[in-house]
Amino acid sequence: MRPVSRARQSGSEIGFMAQLIGLFGGTFDPVHNAHLRVALDVLETGDVDEIRLLPCRLPPHRDAPSVAAEQRLHMLRLAVSGEPRLVVDDRELGRDGPSYTVDTLASFRQQMPDTRFCLLLGMDNFRDLNRWHRWRELSHYCHFLIMDRPEQGLPLPDELERWLVGRETGQWRSLRKNSAGRVFHHPVTQLDISATDIRHRLAAGRSARYLVPDAVWDYIRDNGLYGCTIDAGG
Ligand code: ATP
Repeated sequence: MRPVSRARQSGSEIGFMAQLIGLFGGTFDPVHNAHLRVALDVLETGDVDEIRLLPCRLPPHRDAPSVAAEQRLHMLRLAVSGEPRLVVDDRELGRDGPSYTVDTLASFRQQMPDTRFCLLLGMDNFRDLNRWHRWRELSHYCHFLIMDRPEQGLPLPDELERWLVGRETGQWRSLRKNSAGRVFHHPVTQLDISATDIRHRLAAGRSARYLVPDAVWDYIRDNGLYGCTIDAGG
């Protein structure tokens, strides 16, 4: 095993443990400050070595994104510039067809066989997990880090509740120790921002300033994305 990360030491326990990478997939149509803030929360108060942001080409369970993949990718790159632990990974954009997470995980496993991965999911996404393509296989490849969101009180589907039994852990350590299949809840800053709302605002002639990083806002405005009609300087 590649001794990439020194384990948190407790008592006489000293050793090396596997690298742990967070995988944060999404449409990022566009990336916004809540995506970035929750990822930073996980870096700051969790124990992952880095987070890969993975824009999908075609989301399997929803409408096609509003702007081209290259533009979503470019906005992501603008958004994370200056934060080396947030890494944009464009592997899903190179594949044809829907962007199935199970394929993405298989490609990571092949590329980095000794690294542990945890999938960062908002509670809204996790609640749908049992509808994902080959969803039971996901737990062979990765852990699940659920970022709790305000609507978390809603019940989970029974199938998912049953699947959860015995998987939940409150220990970061167990995500490095075990190869895959654990579920960890992580509190994150609650920001009521969504890409849908941003797209609606822009289409209605309103601004997205302060909801997205300044560089992303400049790019949206300069390129008239999402029907934005606000002039330079606005
Ligand atoms: P849309 O409104 O188009 O559905 P979105 O804002 O939810 O987009 P996505 O790109 O679909 O963004 O989401 C990627 C991931 O980010 C998902 O796991 C989602 O749960 C999470 N996420 C999105 N917005 C927030 C938020 N405000 N707080 C925490 N997590 C979020």
